[in-house]
Amino acid sequence: MQEETGIGRGAGTSQAGTAAPPRHRPAHHVGDGTFRNPWPTAAGGASRAGAFWRWRWDRLLNGVEPDRPGSLPLVRPELPPAGARYGELHLTWIGHSTLLIQLDGVNILPDPVWSRRVSPVSWLGPARHAPPGLPFDELPPIDAVLLSHDHYDHLDDPTVRRLADRFGERIRWFTSLGYADWLARRGIHRVTELDWWDDAALAGPLGTLRIGALPAQHWCRRSPADGLSRLWASWSILAPSGLRVYFGGDSGYFPEYGRIGAARGPFDLMLLPIGAYEPEWFMRAAHMNPDEAVLAYRDLGATGLFVPIHWGTFRLSDEPLIAPPRRLRDAWRNAGLPPDRLAILRHGETRVLTARAARAARRPADGR
Ligand code: ZN
Ligand code: ZN
Repeated sequence: MQEETGIGRGAGTSQAGTAAPPRHRPAHHVGDGTFRNPWPTAAGGASRAGAFWRWRWDRLLNGVEPDRPGSLPLVRPELPPAGARYGELHLTWIGHSTLLIQLDGVNILPDPVWSRRVSPVSWLGPARHAPPGLPFDELPPIDAVLLSHDHYDHLDDPTVRRLADRFGERIRWFTSLGYADWLARRGIHRVTELDWWDDAALAGPLGTLRIGALPAQHWCRRSPADGLSRLWASWSILAPSGLRVYFGGDSGYFPEYGRIGAARGPFDLMLLPIGAYEPEWFMRAAHMNPDEAVLAYRDLGATGLFVPIHWGTFRLSDEPLIAPPRRLRDAWRNAGLPPDRLAILRHGETRVLTARAARAARRPADGR
């Protein structure tokens, strides 16, 4: 199958056999096969081992606020029986950064995680506080998976294998750079690796979607041997009906959201991470807090619906699981944004958007 990419990249020769002109190395490519965040705001951050142990030591000394049981409601998803029709988007929150996006006849899963724990081993590490909003066996046929990066709460080996077993070659896997070998070792070869700002076509029954990799401010590593050899990313999904989705992946607040909104917006749905931000001295470079997520929404163009992700499922940081949406509501109100453009979903909850209604919400919400 032809894996078409939008904007060409990389060295090599053109099809005519002439040498391609030398390309300027993008600022996020270090040049030794590893990647970096090219912005000054990214200094420090969660990849430093010394800082990690300082955080864990502080926790041991001072403790953290516990989670109250029963504060995370679970509802039954309402999936369209025959899939999403043209001009329809059905969004179901599975939990954390896992969502089922049904759009113009295509079913897309970003960062699929169904495991009970997100760690290298099944018996230790952060465990689920809320069951997946949709049981794995009730998933409709999946056409595409998007991977934002390789951390265990986003790239889950058992779930990847289950998806490959169940749906096989039907799934097209979209990743940023550095994942093809890892997926190939699991028998997955229908992979499209993209660099930031590149995009590729995804053929659906009702037209062609464009899936685009975009910057995020984060890092990658699954084992000490990995270094920063895989790239992290956020994603845009542009559907044939005109509906546009932005999936923020895992990210600190960084200065390119305005450029992303201008290049790929106006977005009708923005899925932005709001959790795992405390303590800020350690988390801030890699994880936005809810105030920063609202800032990102405004930078992206303040259009469409904001649905927060990366909260309420795995306890990865010091703030309680239920704190991020509360702080988000305050930040939203303080920014004077309209309440109907914020949708804090319960696990399993489905939200429906139509292209017709979405067009009306493309006016920036903050009057700019
Ligand atoms: Zn991460
Ligand atoms: Zn994460």
